[in-house]
Amino acid sequence: MTTCQQPEHLEQYQLWLSEGFHGEMGYLERHLPLKADPLTLLPEARSILVVALSYYLPEQISASLNPEFQIARYARGDDYHGFMKNMLESLATELKAEQPELIWRAFVDSGPLLERSLAQRAGLGWFGKNTCVINPSSGSFMLLGCLLTNLEIPPDKPFTTFHCGSCTRCLDACPTGALTAPHWLDARKCISYWTIEQRETIPESLRESFGDWMFGCDICQEVCPWNLKFAKISEQQAFYPREWMQNASLSDLLQLTAHEFELKIAPRSPLKRPKYRGFIRNLAIVAGNSGRPELLPALTAARLRHAEDTMLSEHLDWSIKRLETLAVQVNG
Ligand code: SF4
Ligand code: SF4
Repeated sequence: MTTCQQPEHLEQYQLWLSEGFHGEMGYLERHLPLKADPLTLLPEARSILVVALSYYLPEQISASLNPEFQIARYARGDDYHGFMKNMLESLATELKAEQPELIWRAFVDSGPLLERSLAQRAGLGWFGKNTCVINPSSGSFMLLGCLLTNLEIPPDKPFTTFHCGSCTRCLDACPTGALTAPHWLDARKCISYWTIEQRETIPESLRESFGDWMFGCDICQEVCPWNLKFAKISEQQAFYPREWMQNASLSDLLQLTAHEFELKIAPRSPLKRPKYRGFIRNLAIVAGNSGRPELLPALTAARLRHAEDTMLSEHLDWSIKRLETLAVQVNG
């Protein structure tokens, strides 16, 4: 629980925006006045309940997924925005039954709050060098949500200690150098930004470093000792991976039509965000990085299917060229 005062990290956030580190996520700039003053979202608000929901699943679940591609852990099941907001709304409804004067608004990662800063102030953890909030007993594989209420509830003690110490594992492990300094993420270099937020061309200079990450990236969290030791298993079935992530091959996925994508992949999934074209684009990069010339027929078929789409054609050509070059080297 915390107050509605201005978040402590606001200045740092403004600086981050002014450096252009948010890339083309213009909505982050537009939300700045709301982030600066939570009362703009609910003038009657007097306290903010900040919640964290773990999305970490047992490692054997991850091990059962198709190793040809990787999808960020949070995105393997249902889109959390919907069900987490429902959870907050149910909580508010229960509170209202006891306190009929309750006025509230629920937010889940929807932009207008500096949730990580509020989480630290509510005592949930510290702001790690990988830019995630890290809880000392459950790590950082968690999603944050906020319930603004008009209730005067005593705030929790802010989390004031910092436990990254001299560790730099996340900075060292980031394959694109997106963590340019502790606590500084240049989204313009981040795999998550490009594969999720961007719908058009991914710069060629970055593609190789994406490796097999098809949607998002967990590297800077996976290497964190706090997650390696303390990641807490989620109780939410909704985070369990979709069946196709175990059974569908990269070749199969490259052949999906837009209609099949809408039917089989998109419903209630975070993967619908970059849309069908973003999905195929991301698959093309993973295939190009696979080092497996046997994917050439699937890539060539996809290239024919998307001949009219300049962006997709360019990415598929890039992948085909990489694998053809490799095939020539292998065959002498
Ligand atoms: S999500 Fe991946 S690309 Fe982005 S900062 Fe972390 S390690 Fe780097
Ligand atoms: S990997 Fe190390 S430096 Fe990075 S967030 Fe975790 S503890 Fe902090």
